[in-house]
Amino acid sequence: MIPRRGDGQAVLITGASRGIGRAIALRFAAEGYRVVAMDIPRQEADLKQVQELIRQENGTCDLVFGDVSNPESVRTFVAEARTLAGHIDVLVNNAGVLSLARVDDIAPEEWDRMYDVNTKGTFLVCQALLAQFREAGKGRIVNIASIGGKRGAPLQAHYCSSKAAVIGFTHILAQEVARDGITVNAVCPGIIDTEMGRNNYRDEAALQAVKDKTAMGRLGYPDDVVGAVAFFASDDASFITGQALNVCGGIIFH
Ligand code: NAP
Repeated sequence: MIPRRGDGQAVLITGASRGIGRAIALRFAAEGYRVVAMDIPRQEADLKQVQELIRQENGTCDLVFGDVSNPESVRTFVAEARTLAGHIDVLVNNAGVLSLARVDDIAPEEWDRMYDVNTKGTFLVCQALLAQFREAGKGRIVNIASIGGKRGAPLQAHYCSSKAAVIGFTHILAQEVARDGITVNAVCPGIIDTEMGRNNYRDEAALQAVKDKTAMGRLGYPDDVVGAVAFFASDDASFITGQALNVCGGIIFH
């Protein structure tokens, strides 16, 4: 049998029960990775479906539950993931939240929620795995940021700035750990057809406007995003670190 690039490796994916995270889990399983799919406990039913789908295709998938914004929960689910998989080779920080409000109307608690999940969550899960990656002399981290973190969008000041912070964090962590054999990159999706993405087009006119914004004239789908994530996790990306790659059908160009 031709070896697959994930054979013998394990990936931990947060927010994996649906949308982009689910598609990433299915793609990594198809590439031979042992998948540890993580989500918040309220998503148990959907996460179990992801596990079922992977097992039906003879892949390996374990589940862990927790809250990426809670340091104790992160320590617990990362330890569980390591016990289940033996070791983690790739971390995909995908869990995220979005809400819409003008700056005048963003409640301080809602501002904190965006940063707690999107930014602090990414930091905490990275931090919890760094020692193991250093010990192994290798590790791959892929943070799912957003083109919103580069260009911003009205009604999303809290979300977009939290994603800009994820991009900044990616640049810095990449430099801190490069000599330990660890790469850290970000993928910046455009507007992708998921529960979260649909906040950007709640009617036909808004959907058309979203399509018109892209050079390709169409919406993105979760499967459009997974190739970039798999690439950053692979040996093909061994000399690439600290980058933030737009996967947006041509909305922004730098
Ligand atoms: P999604 O469908 O809303 O899925 C996100 C998942 O993360 C959900 O299962 C969610 O659970 C989970 N989650 C939320 N808070 C969590 C926490 N504290 N701990 C663990 N899991 C948590 O979103 P998506 O569209 O697939 O987005 C995935 C990633 O891509 C996010 O980081 C998002 O910001 C980014 N992104 C998406 C788009 C887009 O257009 N869709 C564009 C750019 C970037 P609950 O729903 O129960 O909270």
